[in-house]
Amino acid sequence: MELDRKLAILADAAKYDASCASSGTTTRDSIGGRGIGSTEGAGICHSYAPDGRCISLLKVLLTNWCLYDCLYCVNRVSSNVPRARFTTDEVVQLTLDFYRRNCIEGLFLSSGIIKSPDHTMELVVEVARSLREDHDFRGYIHLKTIPEASAELLARAGRYADRLSINIELPTDEGLVALAPEKDGQAIRRSMARLRVHIDDAKGERAAVRPTTLPAARPRPAEAPRFAPAGQSTQMIVGADAASDRSILATSATLYGSYRLRRVYYSAFSPIPDASRQLPPAAPPLVREHRLYQADWLMRFYGFAHDEIASGSDGMLALDIDPKLAWALAHRERFPVDLNRAPRELLLRVPGLGVKSVDRLLLARRQRVLRVDDLGRLGVPLRKLLPFVSVPGATARGLDSAQLAAQLRPRPRQASLFDAHADA
Ligand code: SF4
Repeated sequence: MELDRKLAILADAAKYDASCASSGTTTRDSIGGRGIGSTEGAGICHSYAPDGRCISLLKVLLTNWCLYDCLYCVNRVSSNVPRARFTTDEVVQLTLDFYRRNCIEGLFLSSGIIKSPDHTMELVVEVARSLREDHDFRGYIHLKTIPEASAELLARAGRYADRLSINIELPTDEGLVALAPEKDGQAIRRSMARLRVHIDDAKGERAAVRPTTLPAARPRPAEAPRFAPAGQSTQMIVGADAASDRSILATSATLYGSYRLRRVYYSAFSPIPDASRQLPPAAPPLVREHRLYQADWLMRFYGFAHDEIASGSDGMLALDIDPKLAWALAHRERFPVDLNRAPRELLLRVPGLGVKSVDRLLLARRQRVLRVDDLGRLGVPLRKLLPFVSVPGATARGLDSAQLAAQLRPRPRQASLFDAHADA
Protein backbone atom coordinates (compact mmCIF):
# COMPACT_ATOMS: atom_id res chain seq x y z
CA MET A 1 0.00 0.00 0.00
CA GLU A 2 1.23 3.52 -0.85
CA LEU A 3 2.50 5.53 2.11
CA ASP A 4 0.01 8.34 1.37
CA ARG A 5 -2.90 5.92 1.53
CA LYS A 6 -1.65 4.43 4.81
CA LEU A 7 -1.30 7.92 6.24
CA ALA A 8 -4.83 8.83 5.20
CA ILE A 9 -6.25 5.73 6.91
CA LEU A 10 -4.13 5.82 10.05
CA ALA A 11 -4.36 9.57 10.69
CA ASP A 12 -8.12 9.37 10.20
CA ALA A 13 -8.35 6.44 12.61
CA ALA A 14 -6.43 8.37 15.28
CA LYS A 15 -8.56 11.50 15.24
CA TYR A 16 -11.04 10.28 17.86
CA ASP A 17 -8.41 10.43 20.57
CA ALA A 18 -8.66 13.82 22.28
CA SER A 19 -5.82 13.39 24.75
CA CYS A 20 -3.04 14.93 22.71
CA ALA A 21 -2.39 18.41 24.09
CA SER A 22 1.35 19.00 24.18
CA SER A 23 1.66 21.08 27.34
CA GLY A 24 3.85 20.74 30.38
CA THR A 25 7.03 19.11 29.18
CA THR A 26 10.65 20.20 29.56
CA THR A 27 12.09 22.79 27.19
CA ARG A 28 14.37 21.41 24.46
CA ASP A 29 15.58 22.76 21.16
CA SER A 30 18.14 22.21 18.45
CA ILE A 31 19.82 25.63 18.68
CA GLY A 32 23.48 25.28 17.81
CA GLY A 33 22.84 22.54 15.29
CA ARG A 34 22.46 19.75 17.82
CA GLY A 35 19.67 17.32 17.07
CA ILE A 36 16.39 18.08 15.39
CA GLY A 37 13.16 19.50 16.76
CA SER A 38 11.99 21.69 19.58
CA THR A 39 9.26 21.48 22.18
CA GLU A 40 8.53 25.17 21.73
CA GLY A 41 7.30 27.37 18.93
CA ALA A 42 4.81 27.07 16.11
CA GLY A 43 4.25 24.33 13.60
CA ILE A 44 1.48 22.32 15.16
CA CYS A 45 -0.70 20.56 12.67
CA HIS A 46 -4.41 20.77 13.47
CA SER A 47 -7.02 18.39 12.24
CA TYR A 48 -10.78 18.43 12.74
CA ALA A 49 -13.05 15.65 13.89
CA PRO A 50 -16.31 15.21 11.99
CA ASP A 51 -18.19 16.94 14.82
CA GLY A 52 -16.11 20.08 14.36
CA ARG A 53 -13.73 19.82 17.30
CA CYS A 54 -10.19 20.93 16.69
CA ILE A 55 -7.68 18.19 17.43
CA SER A 56 -4.05 19.23 17.41
CA LEU A 57 -0.82 17.49 16.33
CA LEU A 58 0.04 14.97 13.73
CA LYS A 59 -1.64 11.95 15.21
CA VAL A 60 -1.28 8.54 13.73
CA LEU A 61 -1.88 4.96 14.65
CA LEU A 62 0.85 2.48 13.98
CA THR A 63 -1.95 0.26 12.78
CA ASN A 64 -5.73 0.21 12.94
CA TRP A 65 -5.81 -3.58 12.96
CA CYS A 66 -6.91 -4.66 16.42
CA LEU A 67 -7.56 -7.95 18.18
CA TYR A 68 -10.03 -6.38 20.60
CA ASP A 69 -13.67 -5.65 20.04
CA CYS A 70 -14.46 -2.52 22.06
CA LEU A 71 -17.97 -1.72 20.87
CA TYR A 72 -17.51 2.06 20.72
CA CYS A 73 -14.34 1.90 18.62
CA VAL A 74 -14.20 2.24 14.86
CA ASN A 75 -11.05 0.07 14.79
CA ARG A 76 -12.51 -2.90 16.66
CA VAL A 77 -11.89 -6.33 15.14
CA SER A 78 -15.48 -6.64 13.91
CA SER A 79 -15.45 -3.23 12.21
CA ASN A 80 -15.63 -3.13 8.45
CA VAL A 81 -13.11 -0.36 7.77
CA PRO A 82 -10.06 -0.25 5.48
CA ARG A 83 -7.00 -1.40 7.43
CA ALA A 84 -3.39 -0.33 7.19
CA ARG A 85 -0.16 -0.75 9.07
CA PHE A 86 3.01 1.33 9.16
CA THR A 87 6.44 -0.09 9.78
CA THR A 88 8.24 1.58 12.66
CA ASP A 89 10.71 3.12 10.20
CA GLU A 90 7.88 4.62 8.16
CA VAL A 91 6.53 6.44 11.23
CA VAL A 92 10.03 7.67 12.11
CA GLN A 93 10.63 9.00 8.59
CA LEU A 94 7.17 10.59 8.39
CA THR A 95 7.72 12.37 11.69
CA LEU A 96 11.10 13.71 10.60
CA ASP A 97 9.77 14.75 7.17
CA PHE A 98 6.76 16.54 8.63
CA TYR A 99 8.92 18.19 11.23
CA ARG A 100 11.44 19.44 8.66
CA ARG A 101 8.58 20.92 6.67
CA ASN A 102 7.40 22.69 9.83
CA CYS A 103 4.03 20.96 9.75
CA ILE A 104 4.17 19.45 13.23
CA GLU A 105 5.56 19.99 16.67
CA GLY A 106 5.91 16.33 17.46
CA LEU A 107 4.33 12.94 17.34
CA PHE A 108 1.27 11.44 18.98
CA LEU A 109 1.40 7.70 18.43
CA SER A 110 -1.20 5.14 19.32
CA SER A 111 -2.01 1.71 17.95
CA GLY A 112 -4.55 -1.04 17.71
CA ILE A 113 -3.39 -4.23 19.40
CA ILE A 114 -1.73 -6.71 17.06
CA LYS A 115 -0.50 -10.17 18.10
CA SER A 116 -0.26 -9.18 21.77
CA PRO A 117 -0.08 -6.09 24.00
CA ASP A 118 3.69 -6.62 24.47
CA HIS A 119 4.38 -7.02 20.75
CA THR A 120 2.43 -3.84 19.96
CA MET A 121 4.03 -1.86 22.77
CA GLU A 122 7.50 -2.93 21.62
CA LEU A 123 6.80 -1.47 18.17
CA VAL A 124 5.45 1.78 19.64
CA VAL A 125 8.50 2.13 21.90
CA GLU A 126 10.84 1.36 19.01
CA VAL A 127 9.49 4.37 17.07
CA ALA A 128 10.22 6.67 20.00
CA ARG A 129 13.63 5.08 20.66
CA SER A 130 14.70 5.47 17.05
CA LEU A 131 13.56 9.10 16.93
CA ARG A 132 15.47 9.97 20.09
CA GLU A 133 18.58 7.80 19.77
CA ASP A 134 19.13 7.40 16.02
CA HIS A 135 17.96 10.88 14.98
CA ASP A 136 18.43 12.96 18.14
CA PHE A 137 14.83 14.15 17.79
CA ARG A 138 14.03 16.76 20.45
CA GLY A 139 10.41 17.42 19.55
CA TYR A 140 7.42 16.33 21.57
CA ILE A 141 6.47 12.66 21.75
CA HIS A 142 3.24 11.42 23.28
CA LEU A 143 2.83 7.65 23.36
CA LYS A 144 -0.45 5.97 24.04
CA THR A 145 0.47 2.95 26.12
CA ILE A 146 -1.23 -0.39 26.37
CA PRO A 147 -2.18 -1.19 29.96
CA GLU A 148 -1.69 -4.93 29.60
CA ALA A 149 1.90 -4.50 28.31
CA SER A 150 4.74 -5.49 30.62
CA ALA A 151 6.07 -3.13 33.29
CA GLU A 152 9.47 -3.17 31.58
CA LEU A 153 8.01 -1.89 28.32
CA LEU A 154 6.09 0.87 30.08
CA ALA A 155 9.31 1.89 31.80
CA ARG A 156 11.12 2.03 28.44
CA ALA A 157 8.31 4.08 26.89
CA GLY A 158 8.72 6.71 29.61
CA ARG A 159 12.42 7.13 28.86
CA TYR A 160 11.67 8.39 25.35
CA ALA A 161 8.24 10.02 25.60
CA ASP A 162 7.31 13.43 26.97
CA ARG A 163 3.89 12.23 27.91
CA LEU A 164 2.37 8.80 28.34
CA SER A 165 -1.29 8.08 28.44
CA ILE A 166 -3.43 5.09 29.20
CA ASN A 167 -7.08 5.42 28.35
CA ILE A 168 -9.43 4.64 31.20
CA GLU A 169 -12.03 4.43 28.39
CA LEU A 170 -15.23 4.44 30.47
CA PRO A 171 -16.11 5.93 33.85
CA THR A 172 -17.09 2.69 35.55
CA ASP A 173 -15.91 -0.92 35.59
CA GLU A 174 -19.47 -1.99 34.71
CA GLY A 175 -19.30 0.13 31.57
CA LEU A 176 -15.98 -1.45 30.66
CA VAL A 177 -17.34 -4.96 31.11
CA ALA A 178 -20.37 -4.16 28.95
CA LEU A 179 -18.66 -2.25 26.14
CA ALA A 180 -14.99 -3.29 26.18
CA PRO A 181 -14.98 -6.81 27.63
CA GLU A 182 -11.33 -7.54 26.78
CA LYS A 183 -10.15 -4.52 28.74
CA ASP A 184 -9.34 -4.89 32.39
CA GLY A 185 -10.01 -1.96 34.72
CA GLN A 186 -7.57 -3.31 37.28
CA ALA A 187 -4.78 -3.62 34.71
CA ILE A 188 -5.42 -0.03 33.62
CA ARG A 189 -5.14 1.27 37.18
CA ARG A 190 -2.11 -0.93 37.91
CA SER A 191 -0.28 0.52 34.91
CA MET A 192 -1.21 4.07 35.92
CA ALA A 193 0.18 3.37 39.39
CA ARG A 194 3.43 2.08 37.86
CA LEU A 195 3.78 5.16 35.71
CA ARG A 196 3.17 7.37 38.70
CA VAL A 197 5.99 5.67 40.63
CA HIS A 198 8.39 6.09 37.69
CA ILE A 199 7.41 9.74 37.17
CA ASP A 200 7.77 10.55 40.88
CA ASP A 201 11.14 8.73 41.10
CA ALA A 202 12.51 10.58 38.07
CA LYS A 203 11.37 13.92 39.48
CA GLY A 204 12.96 13.09 42.83
CA GLU A 205 16.26 12.12 41.19
CA ARG A 206 16.34 15.26 39.05
CA ALA A 207 15.66 17.41 42.07
CA ALA A 208 18.49 15.66 43.93
CA VAL A 209 21.09 16.39 41.23
CA ARG A 210 19.95 19.98 40.57
CA PRO A 211 22.83 22.34 41.48
CA THR A 212 22.10 24.41 44.54
CA THR A 213 24.88 26.97 43.95
CA LEU A 214 25.88 28.89 40.85
CA PRO A 215 26.67 26.47 37.99
CA ALA A 216 30.16 27.96 37.51
CA ALA A 217 31.09 27.14 41.08
CA ARG A 218 30.99 23.36 40.58
CA PRO A 219 31.39 20.86 37.78
CA ARG A 220 28.03 20.12 36.20
CA PRO A 221 26.47 17.02 37.76
CA ALA A 222 25.35 14.17 35.53
CA GLU A 223 21.74 14.55 34.33
CA ALA A 224 19.28 12.29 36.06
CA PRO A 225 17.33 10.10 33.65
CA ARG A 226 14.05 11.64 32.48
CA PHE A 227 10.75 9.84 32.58
CA ALA A 228 7.71 11.29 30.83
CA PRO A 229 8.37 14.86 32.03
CA ALA A 230 4.91 15.96 30.85
CA GLY A 231 3.35 13.31 33.08
CA GLN A 232 0.52 10.97 32.25
CA SER A 233 -3.00 11.61 31.05
CA THR A 234 -6.07 9.63 30.14
CA GLN A 235 -9.24 9.85 28.13
CA MET A 236 -12.79 8.95 29.11
CA ILE A 237 -15.57 8.46 26.61
CA VAL A 238 -18.71 10.34 27.58
CA GLY A 239 -22.19 9.27 26.59
CA ALA A 240 -21.43 5.76 25.33
CA ASP A 241 -22.89 4.27 28.51
CA ALA A 242 -25.38 5.49 31.10
CA ALA A 243 -22.80 6.85 33.58
CA SER A 244 -23.87 10.17 35.06
CA ASP A 245 -21.68 13.26 35.17
CA ARG A 246 -21.38 12.77 38.91
CA SER A 247 -19.88 9.32 38.47
CA ILE A 248 -17.58 10.61 35.68
CA LEU A 249 -16.29 13.36 37.99
CA ALA A 250 -15.89 10.91 40.87
CA THR A 251 -13.71 8.72 38.63
CA SER A 252 -11.67 11.74 37.55
CA ALA A 253 -11.17 12.81 41.17
CA THR A 254 -9.84 9.34 42.00
CA LEU A 255 -7.51 9.39 38.99
CA TYR A 256 -6.11 12.82 39.89
CA GLY A 257 -5.74 11.88 43.53
CA SER A 258 -4.37 8.35 43.22
CA TYR A 259 -2.21 8.56 40.09
CA ARG A 260 -1.52 12.29 39.85
CA LEU A 261 -2.68 12.52 36.26
CA ARG A 262 -1.94 15.79 34.50
CA ARG A 263 -5.23 15.72 32.62
CA VAL A 264 -8.35 13.71 32.16
CA TYR A 265 -9.73 14.30 28.66
CA TYR A 266 -13.44 13.88 28.07
CA SER A 267 -14.41 12.73 24.63
CA ALA A 268 -18.06 12.78 23.61
CA PHE A 269 -18.98 9.44 22.09
CA SER A 270 -19.18 9.59 18.28
CA PRO A 271 -21.59 7.15 16.64
CA ILE A 272 -19.73 4.74 14.37
CA PRO A 273 -20.83 2.70 11.34
CA ASP A 274 -22.46 -0.71 12.02
CA ALA A 275 -22.64 0.07 15.71
CA SER A 276 -23.83 -2.39 18.35
CA ARG A 277 -27.34 -1.95 19.71
CA GLN A 278 -25.82 -1.50 23.15
CA LEU A 279 -24.62 1.92 22.06
CA PRO A 280 -26.82 5.01 21.94
CA PRO A 281 -27.90 5.90 18.40
CA ALA A 282 -26.82 9.55 18.73
CA ALA A 283 -23.88 11.43 20.16
CA PRO A 284 -24.45 13.29 23.45
CA PRO A 285 -24.65 17.09 23.10
CA LEU A 286 -21.13 18.46 22.75
CA VAL A 287 -21.93 21.01 25.44
CA ARG A 288 -21.96 18.11 27.92
CA GLU A 289 -18.28 17.50 27.17
CA HIS A 290 -17.67 21.24 27.62
CA ARG A 291 -19.45 21.30 30.99
CA LEU A 292 -17.36 18.34 32.16
CA TYR A 293 -14.17 20.22 31.28
CA GLN A 294 -15.45 23.22 33.25
CA ALA A 295 -16.28 20.97 36.22
CA ASP A 296 -12.85 19.36 35.94
CA TRP A 297 -11.25 22.83 36.21
CA LEU A 298 -13.35 23.56 39.28
CA MET A 299 -11.87 20.46 40.92
CA ARG A 300 -8.28 21.16 39.90
CA PHE A 301 -8.00 24.92 40.31
CA TYR A 302 -10.98 26.22 42.30
CA GLY A 303 -11.02 23.95 45.33
CA PHE A 304 -14.33 22.22 44.58
CA ALA A 305 -14.78 18.62 45.66
CA HIS A 306 -16.24 16.33 43.01
CA ASP A 307 -19.37 15.64 45.06
CA GLU A 308 -20.20 19.35 45.32
CA ILE A 309 -20.61 19.55 41.57
CA ALA A 310 -23.47 17.79 39.77
CA SER A 311 -25.14 17.26 43.13
CA GLY A 312 -28.69 17.28 41.72
CA SER A 313 -30.90 14.21 41.93
CA ASP A 314 -30.07 13.01 38.39
CA GLY A 315 -26.31 13.51 38.88
CA MET A 316 -26.03 15.48 35.64
CA LEU A 317 -24.48 18.90 35.05
CA ALA A 318 -26.82 21.62 33.83
CA LEU A 319 -26.28 22.20 30.13
CA ASP A 320 -27.62 25.76 30.00
CA ILE A 321 -25.38 27.31 32.69
CA ASP A 322 -21.82 26.62 33.75
CA PRO A 323 -21.25 24.39 36.81
CA LYS A 324 -19.88 27.16 39.02
CA LEU A 325 -22.92 29.35 38.45
CA ALA A 326 -25.16 26.30 39.00
CA TRP A 327 -23.42 25.67 42.35
CA ALA A 328 -23.76 29.32 43.41
CA LEU A 329 -27.46 29.38 42.54
CA ALA A 330 -28.00 26.22 44.59
CA HIS A 331 -26.03 27.64 47.56
CA ARG A 332 -27.28 31.22 47.77
CA GLU A 333 -26.90 31.16 51.56
CA ARG A 334 -23.10 31.40 50.97
CA PHE A 335 -23.48 34.81 49.29
CA PRO A 336 -23.02 37.74 49.05
CA VAL A 337 -19.26 37.54 49.41
CA ASP A 338 -17.46 40.66 50.62
CA LEU A 339 -14.93 41.42 47.89
CA ASN A 340 -12.73 43.41 50.27
CA ARG A 341 -12.51 40.80 53.02
CA ALA A 342 -13.29 37.32 51.74
CA PRO A 343 -10.42 34.80 51.66
CA ARG A 344 -9.10 33.56 48.33
CA GLU A 345 -10.90 30.20 48.53
CA LEU A 346 -14.25 31.94 48.90
CA LEU A 347 -13.55 34.42 46.10
CA LEU A 348 -12.79 31.47 43.82
CA ARG A 349 -16.37 30.32 44.29
CA VAL A 350 -17.91 33.55 43.06
CA PRO A 351 -19.41 33.29 39.55
CA GLY A 352 -17.51 35.51 37.15
CA LEU A 353 -14.20 35.41 39.06
CA GLY A 354 -11.46 33.26 37.55
CA VAL A 355 -8.13 32.35 39.12
CA LYS A 356 -6.34 35.27 37.46
CA SER A 357 -9.01 37.83 38.33
CA VAL A 358 -9.02 36.65 41.96
CA ASP A 359 -5.26 37.10 42.14
CA ARG A 360 -5.51 40.56 40.53
CA LEU A 361 -8.28 41.47 42.96
CA LEU A 362 -6.25 40.31 45.99
CA LEU A 363 -3.33 42.41 44.80
CA ALA A 364 -5.48 45.48 44.16
CA ARG A 365 -7.25 45.36 47.53
CA ARG A 366 -3.90 45.45 49.33
CA GLN A 367 -3.52 49.02 48.06
CA ARG A 368 -6.99 50.33 48.86
CA VAL A 369 -10.63 49.49 49.43
CA LEU A 370 -12.12 48.25 46.17
CA ARG A 371 -15.23 49.96 44.83
CA VAL A 372 -17.54 48.80 42.10
CA ASP A 373 -15.81 51.14 39.60
CA ASP A 374 -12.56 49.25 40.15
CA LEU A 375 -14.11 45.97 39.04
CA GLY A 376 -14.53 47.10 35.45
CA ARG A 377 -10.81 47.88 35.33
CA LEU A 378 -10.07 44.36 36.60
CA GLY A 379 -11.96 43.02 33.59
CA VAL A 380 -14.55 40.93 35.46
CA PRO A 381 -18.07 40.39 34.06
CA LEU A 382 -20.24 42.64 36.26
CA ARG A 383 -23.57 41.24 35.16
CA LYS A 384 -22.63 37.79 36.44
CA LEU A 385 -20.65 38.94 39.44
CA LEU A 386 -22.71 41.66 41.12
CA PRO A 387 -25.63 39.53 42.37
CA PHE A 388 -23.14 37.47 44.39
CA VAL A 389 -20.88 40.08 45.98
CA SER A 390 -20.95 43.05 48.27
CA VAL A 391 -18.68 45.91 47.31
CA PRO A 392 -18.96 49.65 48.03
CA GLY A 393 -20.95 51.38 45.30
CA ALA A 394 -23.17 48.37 44.55
CA THR A 395 -25.62 46.27 46.51
CA ALA A 396 -26.16 42.58 45.94
CA ARG A 397 -29.66 42.60 44.51
CA GLY A 398 -31.88 39.80 43.38
CA LEU A 399 -30.01 37.00 45.12
CA ASP A 400 -33.30 35.59 46.34
CA SER A 401 -35.10 36.14 43.07
CA ALA A 402 -36.58 33.12 41.33
CA GLN A 403 -35.64 34.86 38.06
CA LEU A 404 -31.91 35.04 38.82
CA ALA A 405 -30.98 31.88 36.90
CA ALA A 406 -32.93 33.09 33.87
CA GLN A 407 -31.26 36.51 34.07
CA LEU A 408 -27.77 35.03 34.21
CA ARG A 409 -28.24 32.40 31.51
CA PRO A 410 -26.01 33.26 28.54
CA ARG A 411 -27.95 35.24 25.96
CA PRO A 412 -28.76 33.33 22.79
CA ARG A 413 -26.16 34.01 20.12
CA GLN A 414 -26.79 34.32 16.41
CA ALA A 415 -25.02 31.35 14.77
CA SER A 416 -22.13 32.39 12.56
CA LEU A 417 -21.87 31.31 8.97
CA PHE A 418 -18.56 29.70 9.92
CA ASP A 419 -19.70 27.89 13.08
CA ALA A 420 -18.84 24.21 12.91
CA HIS A 421 -22.50 23.25 12.98
CA ALA A 422 -24.08 26.18 11.20
CA ASP A 423 -26.66 25.04 8.70
CA ALA A 424 -25.96 25.94 5.13
S1 SF4 B 1 -8.15 -1.84 22.05
FE1 SF4 B 1 -8.17 0.30 21.36
S2 SF4 B 1 -8.03 0.17 19.12
FE2 SF4 B 1 -8.61 -1.87 19.85
S3 SF4 B 1 -10.84 -1.91 19.73
FE3 SF4 B 1 -10.31 -1.28 21.82
S4 SF4 B 1 -10.28 0.99 21.78
FE4 SF4 B 1 -10.21 0.23 19.62
